[in-house]
Amino acid sequence: MNVYADNAATTKMSRRAIEAMLPYLDEVYGNPSSLYSAGQRAAEALAEARSRIAARLGCQPAEITFTSGGSEADNQAIRSAAKLGERKGRKHIISTNFEHHAVLHTLDALKLEGFEVTLLEVSDKGLVTPEQVEAAIRPDTCLVTIMYANNEIGTIQPIAEIGAVCRKAGVPFHTDAVQAAGHLPINVAEEQIDLLSLSAHKFHGPKGVGVLYARKGIPLVNLVYGGAQERGRRAGTENVAGIMAMAEALDDACEHMEQNRTHLLALRDRLIAGLEQIPHCQLNGDREHRLPGNVSFCFEGIEGESLLLMLDDRGISASSGSACTSGSLDPSHVLLAIGRPHEVAHGSLRLSLSEETTAQEVDYLIASVAQVVDELRAMSPVYRDLEAGKRNYIL
Ligand SMILES: *Cc1c(COP(=O)(O)O)cnc(C)c1O
Repeated sequence: MNVYADNAATTKMSRRAIEAMLPYLDEVYGNPSSLYSAGQRAAEALAEARSRIAARLGCQPAEITFTSGGSEADNQAIRSAAKLGERKGRKHIISTNFEHHAVLHTLDALKLEGFEVTLLEVSDKGLVTPEQVEAAIRPDTCLVTIMYANNEIGTIQPIAEIGAVCRKAGVPFHTDAVQAAGHLPINVAEEQIDLLSLSAHKFHGPKGVGVLYARKGIPLVNLVYGGAQERGRRAGTENVAGIMAMAEALDDACEHMEQNRTHLLALRDRLIAGLEQIPHCQLNGDREHRLPGNVSFCFEGIEGESLLLMLDDRGISASSGSACTSGSLDPSHVLLAIGRPHEVAHGSLRLSLSEETTAQEVDYLIASVAQVVDELRAMSPVYRDLEAGKRNYIL
């Protein structure tokens, strides 16, 4: 059996998104900046996609900028707020210690430019509170950037409450909503979000295309200079086909959100209950405030990398921590942030489900993980010591 359980890393494009893309690869291939009608048809398509996406987020079309994906949107959002703050003499930024690297590494770069960064510590359940944000805001704070939902452990932050705190203090609020868009209801007006990033390939759209929403009145700085596309905020001929597919994928996801959620919650909780039967393991992240498709565990006495390879042999695509950190031997910063000790953080597994996942696949995942964990533990000297009572179990 083949089971794709890494939808937090990327998703398969939906049929609807592929169909929406095709005419713009084939018939309507004009450059949207061209004045002749073949170009204008592409420009009209872009305008239509912009309106559809704006409607889904609860904002104006003019507040939408198309980007090459979530990372670029995060970079541009943070740099824009930083620049705006700097002009007013404000160079303090608040974020958390378990953001995506697109956020954390941008903040590292800004530190070298004289910005001060406060990283709020998330709880052992992987949550931050609005009170933590409120207490950290200073007169020179120019940005709060906190992710909507975490990509590794799936925890969902109290975004509307944090938005209210920021709005009251007059501090721009950015949220990396890459894991949330298309999976959770989002309304930037109601949730008082000033800047938001999303990426099409996390909701069955194509890779390499995303959105930065910036509330009217928040000027964006350019990361890419050149032509006047995106009203001068991002140069380069637009990815028309990708953008049309993204609009379609977002509509599709939003139209079926409740239905998908019900399906995923049942599978997620079945998977969690099944994996919890394995001794000496622990669920990562809050049980309730988590994405409907996210399951993340630590297993004591094993290496996540070996677990992944052995699952791959059984046809299972999964992840330990985020795709961006695989290949490095450091344990995930997210698992360290929720207080998992290094030796346990190494034995992590993230299974992220999709609407297409079936109950049979979930049962196969449970059986395979249990088997592989057993096999790995049987080979592990560390685990033998634990069983022999020569060391104490952590989990
Ligand atoms: C995937 C992801 C990103 C990066 O998006 P890309 O489109 O791959 O650049 C950023 N933030 C989070 C939370 C993600 O899951």
